[in-house]
Amino acid sequence: MEFKVFTSSEGNVWKYVFTKEDMVAEAVLYKYNDFYDRTVICCSVMSGCPVGCKFCGTGAKFVRNLTADEIVTQIELVLKDKNLIEDINEKCKKLQFMFMSMGEPMLNWDEVEKAIRILNKKFNNAQLLLSTIGCDNDEVFNKIIKLSKGIDKVGLQFSIHKSNDDDRNKLIPFYKKMNLEKIRDAGIIWWKETGRHPFLNYCVDGTNNTEQDFKNLTLLFSPVVFNFTFSVVCSPDENMKETSFRNLEVIKDFQNRFLEHGYNVRTFDPAGQDDIGGGCGQLWYVQNWLKSHNA
Ligand code: SF4
Repeated sequence: MEFKVFTSSEGNVWKYVFTKEDMVAEAVLYKYNDFYDRTVICCSVMSGCPVGCKFCGTGAKFVRNLTADEIVTQIELVLKDKNLIEDINEKCKKLQFMFMSMGEPMLNWDEVEKAIRILNKKFNNAQLLLSTIGCDNDEVFNKIIKLSKGIDKVGLQFSIHKSNDDDRNKLIPFYKKMNLEKIRDAGIIWWKETGRHPFLNYCVDGTNNTEQDFKNLTLLFSPVVFNFTFSVVCSPDENMKETSFRNLEVIKDFQNRFLEHGYNVRTFDPAGQDDIGGGCGQLWYVQNWLKSHNA
């Protein structure tokens, strides 16, 4: 796999774009203070994605599934490029690999599961976070539970982004997905089976943070079970830095309401981290590849 690296102006985020004749994929490396304090790598599980989220640059341009080997290779190439491959597993205080760049893990489950097993053997200190819209597929969800029980490093995050199904269906038009009630039920099952808390990823866009949204979310999702990740959402034509300046205060206000109600909350604060193309598939280089390959 060939790759190109794009570095953020502040030097703490790198986007890697991998290409072969028939695919493009991307991974993002985040350094927090020092690589040995905290390192996060988000990698792709598909080239493109058929889910079609409205805010996503990848939006409905599906090229193909990645193999387990291609998923693992992204992580390894990133670590090799920064000379971290030999000692990051032993020395890093918080090492996280996230399956949340291009692609939906539940739609390529067999290869994602293989990749997780390989990565867990090679990097047994790494947390392995699955981020999914929650595809409505009980067979795959049962496999996720089984894997999560076997490997205690596996985490689960549902991307919900809206507090009601009508709005969520517009934002995430993929039809075979769990509705919010089913996500709640699936999250409770996963929590009971693993003893770990699932996360709900909620991108605050200025329209989904009303009093009614707060009521809907707190009625559906108990703080006993669910943790929240609040983050910014980028439109496909803006970068994360522009977006974060617009939304960060709004996120903090909304987040505080949840904190006051006993939720465990974290904010993905990208300020100063990413001026190289925010979300999935948004880098101009990836867009050009998709266009030139008629994706
Ligand atoms: S946000 Fe993720 S699931 Fe949605 S279209 Fe983009 S890559 Fe696919």
